[in-house]
Amino acid sequence: MCEPGEVRAKRLRFRRQFPKVWSAGLLPRRPNFNKARARSEKSPGDFAPARRAPHLWKLPQRATAHTEKAMPQVLLSRRALFSLGRRLFHPDWNDERNRAAFGRDFGSHGANYSIELSFCGPIAPEDGMIVNIADLKPLISDLIKPLDGAFLPESLEHFAQNRPTAENLALYLWQGFPQQVAGATLARLELEEARRTRVEKTTAHMTVSRSYEFAAAHRLALPDLDDAGNLDRFGICSNRAGHGHNFTLSVGIEGEPDGQTGFIISPALLDRIVDEEIFPRFDHKHLNVDCPEFSDIVPTSENLALVIFGILDERLAREGYTLARVGLQETTKNGFEVLR
Ligand SMILES: [Zn+2]
Repeated sequence: MCEPGEVRAKRLRFRRQFPKVWSAGLLPRRPNFNKARARSEKSPGDFAPARRAPHLWKLPQRATAHTEKAMPQVLLSRRALFSLGRRLFHPDWNDERNRAAFGRDFGSHGANYSIELSFCGPIAPEDGMIVNIADLKPLISDLIKPLDGAFLPESLEHFAQNRPTAENLALYLWQGFPQQVAGATLARLELEEARRTRVEKTTAHMTVSRSYEFAAAHRLALPDLDDAGNLDRFGICSNRAGHGHNFTLSVGIEGEPDGQTGFIISPALLDRIVDEEIFPRFDHKHLNVDCPEFSDIVPTSENLALVIFGILDERLAREGYTLARVGLQETTKNGFEVLR
């Protein structure tokens, strides 16, 4: 179908910005949207898989194509809480340089932590368990004991050389826990610091995420449909004047902690990037009215998460960082995630 030049240019920009997603058909393409829906009404299977992100629709394919009898992976997780006090500083740097690198964390402060350890492995036929949680409890308790109530770096020699950032705390915990417990393998460790910073460590990668909040309004509607048609398609989200959400945005960067600062990315830098790239564009804006990013696409939270991913991916790549994921919590019930 022929499109006006401006619309086509926008579409091409999107294809360049989100090549994987576009090819997976996640972004609704307006000219085909009604046709696709008509197909989906006859046969829901024709349309539904095309709108799923690649990482989601690979799962059923894998299960049916090759491994009819393969067991899906089962994970068991155990969570524990602790708190500690700390100062972030490099002993060889002066106060000015330390303040520039660590900001307010250069001063003494305390934080609460939540750690979650996830294990995978075969389920033992005799007791139906991957590993007995009773066996994990003392190991986890021993693991966090040196940190709980400690003041770092003074309390632990390890942190004399490694800044006690969330990343280095996660690494310390990961390296201190046995990788195998009674046939179960430690698959993932997640550490949440002060409900703002989250580190995920697996054997393959490490990611640090920070959370942000902003408010925006949107209206879900297609210009080709009348009010009744939009109500049918989008429900009350098609309300003519729009409606709003307080979004929680989570931005995850993959990498290794820097040897000097202990950060995968400086929290101050990530905060500044989000301040510069996301808040001016979307905070307290009506996405349909104020944001040209949505002039050609429906401003659903899926699309908002994708647009944010594209913007941050470009900026972070320029700064030398790898964006791993963008999470967007729309309400307490609705969450969206873009994974590289
Ligand atoms: Zn909404």
